[in-house]
Amino acid sequence: MIVVMKIGAPEAEVSRLGAEFEELGLSPEKIVGKTKTVIGLVGDTVDLDALQLQEMSPWIEQVLRVEKPYKRVSREYRHGEASEIAVSTPAGVVLFGEGCPIVTVAGPCSVENESMIVETAHRVKAAGAKFLRGGAFKPRTSPYAFQGHGESALGLLDAARQATGLGIITEVMDTADLDIVAAAADVVQVGARNMQNFSLLKKVGAQDKPVLLKRGMSATIEEWLMAAEYILAAGNPNVILCERGIRTFDRQYARNTLDLSVIPVLRSLTHLPIMIDPSHGTGKAEYVPAMAMAAIAAGTDSLMIEVHPNPAKALSDGPQSLTPDRFDRLMQELSVIGKAVDRWEAVPALA
Ligand code: PEP
Ligand code: MN
Repeated sequence: MIVVMKIGAPEAEVSRLGAEFEELGLSPEKIVGKTKTVIGLVGDTVDLDALQLQEMSPWIEQVLRVEKPYKRVSREYRHGEASEIAVSTPAGVVLFGEGCPIVTVAGPCSVENESMIVETAHRVKAAGAKFLRGGAFKPRTSPYAFQGHGESALGLLDAARQATGLGIITEVMDTADLDIVAAAADVVQVGARNMQNFSLLKKVGAQDKPVLLKRGMSATIEEWLMAAEYILAAGNPNVILCERGIRTFDRQYARNTLDLSVIPVLRSLTHLPIMIDPSHGTGKAEYVPAMAMAAIAAGTDSLMIEVHPNPAKALSDGPQSLTPDRFDRLMQELSVIGKAVDRWEAVPALA
């Protein structure tokens, strides 16, 4: 941190501040310029609040933070190396990370009944997906909209898991449900609306299952990384960051604005793996393929795509869901780009 003093700040005040900074456990380094004096603060400043420091003297012009407020999620924390997250599924371990093949997660927005979830699971697996997604507990804007089948849907996800060997990703909305969701899931999803539910973040950080942390719809990248920092600080290092579109001024044509620029930005800031969700990102099935292809070209580690056997009849997010046939074709289209970036694994032939 750098403390910039106002022009004419008395020397005695600069010394008094220096002593106060030392009491905070910091090493102040004074640099006297032509018109202004600045104090560089060396030490652990992560917990310090710049605005609060400013209150220490009326002679402080501004306090600048030069280091990042997050630590464990930062790329430097792992000496510049990306982390690989290994997720156990019935079909084996799946790796997420910068040096790994792209992992595709697919399935309906909500788990509606056994036949639809099992049928969808078989179809997305045949197309090359490694994980089945599907909400049991649904965060809906309207209290009158379908809220998900809750615990019983977790049992249906398990049936699909057993039938296909796919890993399961499903959302936890409430700390009270975490135990049952974590028991059913191979990766626990924290949704956009809960990205800053700090008690939930602490709880998912204190359990063992990897966590998929979606970006809040109006969250800055720093807020998102700080949310991930909560999970790592609570003891769980296995967090995947999922961009799912943010709010911008134009919502007429696309549901959200899919921020693909986060891919290179996150790559430079954090070691955590990246997932892109073009389904919630655009809200329209016809826009999903283009954004999925762009995400691979831009370097994503994984994709989340909503797939429903009959989108017109879906209980949630039908308009953005691909049919299984369209998903099949999409995976073939994606394979061209995936191979070009040397991150595509051939789909094993069905037994
Ligand atoms: C979902 O994945 O179905 C979902 C509700 O996503 P988000 O939290 O990104 O809106
Ligand atoms: Mn959805």
